Amino acid sequence: GLAVLGRRSPGPSSGVTEAFKADKDSRKINLGVGAYRDGNGKPYVLESVKKAEELLNASKTDKEYLPITGLADFNKRAALLAYGADSVPLNDGAIAVTQSISGTGALRIGGAFLARHYPHSKVIYLPVPSWGNHTPIFRDSGLEVRGYRYFDKKTVGLDFEGLKADLRRSLNLHGYQAAPEQSIVLLHACAHNPTGVDPTQAQWAEISDIVKERQLFPFFDMAYQGFASGDTTRDAFAVRHFVSQGHQIALAQSFAKNMGLYGERVGAFSLVTADPAEKARVDSQLKIVIRPMYSNPPIHGALIANAILGDKALYAQWEGEVKGMADRIISMREKLFGMLTHDLQTPGEWSHIKSQIGMFSFTGLNPAQTKVLAEKAHVYMTADGRISMAGLNAGNIVHFAESVDAAVKG
Ligand code: PLP
Repeated sequence: GLAVLGRRSPGPSSGVTEAFKADKDSRKINLGVGAYRDGNGKPYVLESVKKAEELLNASKTDKEYLPITGLADFNKRAALLAYGADSVPLNDGAIAVTQSISGTGALRIGGAFLARHYPHSKVIYLPVPSWGNHTPIFRDSGLEVRGYRYFDKKTVGLDFEGLKADLRRSLNLHGYQAAPEQSIVLLHACAHNPTGVDPTQAQWAEISDIVKERQLFPFFDMAYQGFASGDTTRDAFAVRHFVSQGHQIALAQSFAKNMGLYGERVGAFSLVTADPAEKARVDSQLKIVIRPMYSNPPIHGALIANAILGDKALYAQWEGEVKGMADRIISMREKLFGMLTHDLQTPGEWSHIKSQIGMFSFTGLNPAQTKVLAEKAHVYMTADGRISMAGLNAGNIVHFAESVDAAVKG
């Protein structure tokens, strides 16, 4: 028979959602989901997306297969959004791009491509902690996964000294400067998941220097461009800085969050190469990696994203909507911080709620407190104390703050 070893592991947020669904209390709040919710707690379809779909319907697009690497116009526009109009390798035609099955698929293509073609190392370093799916994605791609320090539990902030030491140590295993190990290092471009803690621009510049000095290979995961600050250019800072410093990066992009296209599975994988000749070789190797995985990517979401990115008016509307989502999250951060610190005088230091970036916040609540919150207050989050700020709104934030206060005061 078929031997299936190991237990099924559904990921940290699915258990939370099951418990939430079973709870019949009207005050219940689900802060475990990784998708944006509007001010009424409902899923949000962007107006720019609805308009793009109307345009597509009117133009009677067909449902034919896309090429292996997807919709060419979409690929160009996705790369332009990430790298910017001033990008030298982009303008030189030296960036290989393929459409992907959202961010996850982009990471998987990148992992499989590097496992096969990156000659210097089969080791990828992830921040600790990282998005839960990173480890299985890269392990299943054929890479060995190791960690570098990232989050400091004491300060609920970035462990920058630990990060720097680990990126250096990773190449210095014997205590002296041996030949560079040239490992792959995964970097969250903005809005680090799950911590909400990002390096500053000055810290990114230092990380870029270390990556260069040690000849590490930088692989950026940009699942939240625009979602962090509300500004797609600002959120692309790390990616563009690295490229401007001459790094040949790999990049995974997702349009799940910033266009609300979660279930449409729209994303892109790209690789900065040395020149157009190398780009052409990478393009054909990408096809060889992708073809046996899924033949070619889905068309509908790519057409939507392409319509938005390719039309001035729709693009402007979309930028406004991304900013609207980011701003609502930021305002929830400020409200929650104010309630805990000033109104309720909850013991502890809560400024990280305000300073953290993106959809998620590491509250610092411990597993016992998150259990009490679920059982006594009908408030659900992952056991590591991560909450989705997008799950908070004017209708539930008071209940949430009061419940946290009660859980902390015991
Ligand atoms: N990378 C990070 C850091 C994420 O948080 C996510 C989604 O939560 C993804 C990648 C991939 O998401 P998707 O495959 O839906 O684009």
